[in-house]
Amino acid sequence: MTEREIFGWLSQVQHPGKEDKDLVSLGMVEAVEMAEGRVVVTLSFPKRPDPLKNYLVGAARAAVYRHAPGGTEVEVKTVVKDPAPPKQKAPELGLDQLNNVAHIIGIASGKGGVGKSTVAVNLAIALSRLGYRVGLADADVYGPSVPLMTGTEGAVPDMVRENGQDLILPVEKYGVKWMSIGYFAQKGQALIWRGPMACNALKQMILQVQWGVLDYLLIDMPPGTGDIHISLVNDIPMAGAVIVTTPQAVALADVEKGVDLFRNPSVNRPVFGLVENMAWFTPEAHPDECYYLFGRDGGVEMARRLDIPLLGQIPLVQALREAGDAGEPAALGTRPDSLAFLDLARRLTEAV
Ligand code: ADP
Repeated sequence: MTEREIFGWLSQVQHPGKEDKDLVSLGMVEAVEMAEGRVVVTLSFPKRPDPLKNYLVGAARAAVYRHAPGGTEVEVKTVVKDPAPPKQKAPELGLDQLNNVAHIIGIASGKGGVGKSTVAVNLAIALSRLGYRVGLADADVYGPSVPLMTGTEGAVPDMVRENGQDLILPVEKYGVKWMSIGYFAQKGQALIWRGPMACNALKQMILQVQWGVLDYLLIDMPPGTGDIHISLVNDIPMAGAVIVTTPQAVALADVEKGVDLFRNPSVNRPVFGLVENMAWFTPEAHPDECYYLFGRDGGVEMARRLDIPLLGQIPLVQALREAGDAGEPAALGTRPDSLAFLDLARRLTEAV
């Protein structure tokens, strides 16, 4: 009879309260002592009473007794052990990397699909064209679209170590520093982070990035107005927000919630303005024509009612969607919709 054999026998005793894991793999076998004709097993139990304690002691004794040479005396002792101390927590992410960022602005919408990311990406490029130093953090953990829209899919951000902390270097293109959770996911891989995990991943995309000196850091917020948003506006020192909407009434009802998120007394950040996206449709072949597919001036009226400046109206144009899909955002060009983003950027800087 060897100690090893005894451990083998004890590993056949399962703990019915711990998904049937056995005594050995649960780390409950503290000691096995053998003397002439006698085995003493010591099992450890946590401070909190284990209702199965007596059962486990009996089962352990029986397991050894059954296999040991006849006449062996088997004793099972118990000790109380504090659970292992919790693993050391990763250092809290501080705001150090935002120290040299002048204005952090959340780009939000009450609802998905209104073109929030399109506006955020183009606004970033337009601000950069106006000569500002700009970064954009894609905080849309559920559907990060910045890599596709900026043609930086597949980019692998470098890491640097600074003051004992690992920092992520943003991806630079079109004069803007981009960061997205999409750079850390396989192409086509669904991100299924929820709740606190999504919150943490998202804060890392903002706080663990070496942004350097920036005039504007835009945060492309996830759509909606849930817990994640509240945590984001509470933890990131945003100067204020830009709200993106389409003229449709449904979208507008959600927009009010988006505005409330920033205006409620516990957050109390200014909403710098509203952007009415897809304000009208202009066919490629007839650039002077406007069709109000989603209603006319819905955003204008909402801005007036909520007492928020209307920063701009962006038309619905096919080329704008194609530019986004091709990774060459419209704001790089000189078409009317490109210029609309430059106007938007100019008005935002005035509002800020
Ligand atoms: P959100 O971030 O609100 O979910 P996106 O910016 O991803 O929305 O836009 C959704 C889709 O609509 C994208 O394919 C985008 O290219 C397209 N889109 C957004 N705004 C416009 C516009 N003004 N004209 C044409 N297509 C647009």
